[in-house]
Amino acid sequence: LDAHITDDTELLRAEISERGGRPIEVIEGPLMDGMNVVGDLFGSGKMFLPQVVKSARVMKRAVAHLIPFIEAEKKPGDVETKKGTIVMATVKGDVHDIGKNIVGVVLQCNNYDVIDLGVMVPAQKILDAAKEHDADIIGLSGLITPSLDEMVNFAAEMERQGLTIPLLIGGATTSRAHTAVKVDKKYDGPVVWVKDASRSVPVVAALLSDEQRPGLLRDLQEDYDGLRERYAQRSDAKVIVPIDQARANRTPIHWDGYVPPQPAQPGVQVFTDYPIAELRDYIDWQPFFNAWEMKGRFPDILNNPASGEAARKLYDDAQEMLDRIIDEKWLTAAGVMGLFPAAAVGDDIVVTTEAGETVLHQVRQQTEHREGIPHRSLADFVAPKQSGLQDWVGAFAVTAGLGSQDKVKEFKAALDDYSAILLEALADRLAEAFAERLHERVRTEIWGYQSDEKLDNEALIKEQYVGIRPAPGYPACPEHTEKQVIWDLLDVQATTGIELTESMAMWPGAAVSGLYFSHPQSQYFVVGRLGRDQVEDYARRKGWTVAEAERWLGPNLGYRTDDE
Ligand code: SAH
Repeated sequence: LDAHITDDTELLRAEISERGGRPIEVIEGPLMDGMNVVGDLFGSGKMFLPQVVKSARVMKRAVAHLIPFIEAEKKPGDVETKKGTIVMATVKGDVHDIGKNIVGVVLQCNNYDVIDLGVMVPAQKILDAAKEHDADIIGLSGLITPSLDEMVNFAAEMERQGLTIPLLIGGATTSRAHTAVKVDKKYDGPVVWVKDASRSVPVVAALLSDEQRPGLLRDLQEDYDGLRERYAQRSDAKVIVPIDQARANRTPIHWDGYVPPQPAQPGVQVFTDYPIAELRDYIDWQPFFNAWEMKGRFPDILNNPASGEAARKLYDDAQEMLDRIIDEKWLTAAGVMGLFPAAAVGDDIVVTTEAGETVLHQVRQQTEHREGIPHRSLADFVAPKQSGLQDWVGAFAVTAGLGSQDKVKEFKAALDDYSAILLEALADRLAEAFAERLHERVRTEIWGYQSDEKLDNEALIKEQYVGIRPAPGYPACPEHTEKQVIWDLLDVQATTGIELTESMAMWPGAAVSGLYFSHPQSQYFVVGRLGRDQVEDYARRKGWTVAEAERWLGPNLGYRTDDE
């Protein structure tokens, strides 16, 4: 696609120059015309994100060729042709990158100047960059729930420092409701939730247009008012049962006569440089296509009449890059897991190691349920201490992202955002594949309670195996600091190189961690809203103040805190 871009650009430049034209005209003319076509086709659903991101590579390379010529003949008073400047960042403590990068590229394709500050960016650094670049808009992104608070703090800081420019909010953990209820209240300027990359262009265009802005802000105001009203009613309406009552209604598991499977290989195992070729077959491709905002089910998506060609090309590019990841060792996978004697004590799981006891703190469903539906907690899936049974739990952390950053930097330096994003997306997929493969090995050999299990990848993705591997930060165990317990238990940072940020995000981002449960009745569930009595109890068990517990359990609080 872009093999001849430099030559073609040079031909055009020389031609225009010969008739007395200026090099900037190559950008203002044919390049902008081309990008406008791309923008229109994308906007009308005839072109897809991978193609747009690839077009950006063509444009950036052409522009890079022209810049020295443009600089050489710049005249005083030349006006910028950019439509606006957007400073973007993933907030402090968070590592969300792929979605933000895609939004950045799509905006660049539409002739906006994008200053991307990267991941884990402190608020003041974002604000300083906005001032330095005279930004028209700031865009924040985040992947994990603790980032929601950071976005609220950021909005308050914008207000305090007297900014008035629009604030965009995006990323997996964000929502229209949170933006309306929490972020928008802190800042007088416009605050807009952007669902995905395809929404980013119309939103930015409207915000920067004197004609469109008033209408957009009016609609937004109405929408937010409605959301705030519904939120207020919802949190009053949800019935939360007392925690004692929820505990009395735990998952009904008959421990009498149950024989907990004893691990074939107890203790901790470290996997350095795990073969990526083996992980490749365990990839779940569905989230890969979701990351590129390609709609439809895999593998049918490859034959979709509208998007099939783009999907097939993306899939082929991914396979080709996987070959190189493996042959040229672009990425290193590392992991650690362990199986430990454990017993449930209330809603805690007490794990015994050589060093002593470690507590895995769990929360319990507490909203009102229909008769006969239990109030579940992960602690229900481990034999209670008073049963006298010798039960076990496992913990793990894996990454496939070691080394990705150097390669991503290389691609970006070569103006190849497409390959940079593709590599990050594949590293994510390989990390999940590693979690899948290691879990399979745990069931079939390391714990060995399903030694004759034979499931193909589709069955694994559908979770047709016995046991679960819930991950802290997900709905059955939403509290992220429990990752630190896993890190201490398995010495994760030293053994694998995966670090935890102050918001408990894993770095490199292509990482997965969680717990293993073997009981056939163990299942994923959503904890949902918690009552004040449980949050106070959880604070006691964690050795926290209630305010700390409310901060980490924020998205799950089923009541209003004192400062609301
Ligand atoms: N095949 C998917 C797997 C990710 S989602 C992929 O490649 O992306 C499935 C994982 O998320 C589970 O293995 C578990 O670790 C976690 N998970 C899903 N639902 C959960 C829940 N309700 N509570 C805790 N963890 C959950």
